[in-house]
Amino acid sequence: MKIIDEVKNAASIAISGHIRPDGDCVGSVMGLYLYLKKELPGAEVDVFLEKPAEIFDCISHIEEIKSEINTDKIYDVFIVLDCADDRLGDAGPLFENAGKRINIDHHISNPGCGDVRIVEADRSSTAELLYDLMDADKIDREIATALYIGIIHDTGVLRYSNTSPRTLQVAAELIKYGFDFSDIIQKTFYEKTYVQTQIMGRAVLESVRFMNNRCIVSMVSRRMMDFYQVGPKDLEGIVNQLQVVKDVDCAIFMYETGTLEYKVSLRSNGSVDVASVAMKFGGGGHVRAAGCTMNGTYHDNINNLSKGIAEQLNIK
Ligand code: AMP
Ligand code: MN
Ligand code: MN
Repeated sequence: MKIIDEVKNAASIAISGHIRPDGDCVGSVMGLYLYLKKELPGAEVDVFLEKPAEIFDCISHIEEIKSEINTDKIYDVFIVLDCADDRLGDAGPLFENAGKRINIDHHISNPGCGDVRIVEADRSSTAELLYDLMDADKIDREIATALYIGIIHDTGVLRYSNTSPRTLQVAAELIKYGFDFSDIIQKTFYEKTYVQTQIMGRAVLESVRFMNNRCIVSMVSRRMMDFYQVGPKDLEGIVNQLQVVKDVDCAIFMYETGTLEYKVSLRSNGSVDVASVAMKFGGGGHVRAAGCTMNGTYHDNINNLSKGIAEQLNIK
């Protein structure tokens, strides 16, 4: 199946992804946007997303992302990438009202939404899946750059276990378009500002291990975020840093989003299915990387998450 067959008769198309967009979300949304604009020059193609982090400014036409939403508008086709309709944020009503609703994703926790559901949980990233839904000869350097960013961000630069032979083949095809992949990896994945490094250091310093050192947890409060003058986008990567500690099976990181409200990120080495833990609290994700939003105190949240984790690790 090719994506163009699903949308070629549409006069208006909207594309969107999840709130707090990560590299795969931004790369997929922009890759598909650039592709459809090129393939369907007569169609109106719009892209809606929360403003991405500045590191993604290297993606061509990223300034065309719209954050103002006219919910009365009815699109012929609405395509949701890298999530289900429950994490669309303000673009949610546009999806509901669209003539045809397409969902392309790789989250095991997503049963699919809309009229056309392409959810492949064995894909490293939505960007990898999108590559196979495009005609390779219609891809250009700008589209390839966007898709490549999606793949490297969801695979930790082709390192996590979600990296398959197909992931590497797609990455190999993409770098043939000639963008500076080494620079893109450095600038979008590894490089951190000084304050980002400081707050990561602080979160690591204040982390605590429990469950016989098999779990590690840390938290960033609003006060800390105010002190370092950082936002949620600056906390990317902290949970992965906790997960690399020797003998840790499961890492938990949370930051305060409101009064008694925390955004929780979970990572595991595979011995805990963190998607199932996150789903208990209305979230989701993958076996080794998942997230949810929890209400309650920091300590209550740790207690509640620990129950599901301890069960899986056979710890009484
Ligand atoms: P994060 O910890 O936010 O980096 O998320 C890890 C993985 O879980 C990513 O693939 C997210 O898209 C997914 N995820 C995070 N939060 C949620 C949620 N509330 N519902 C479904 N999936 C989520
Ligand atoms: Mn994502
Ligand atoms: Mn993804």
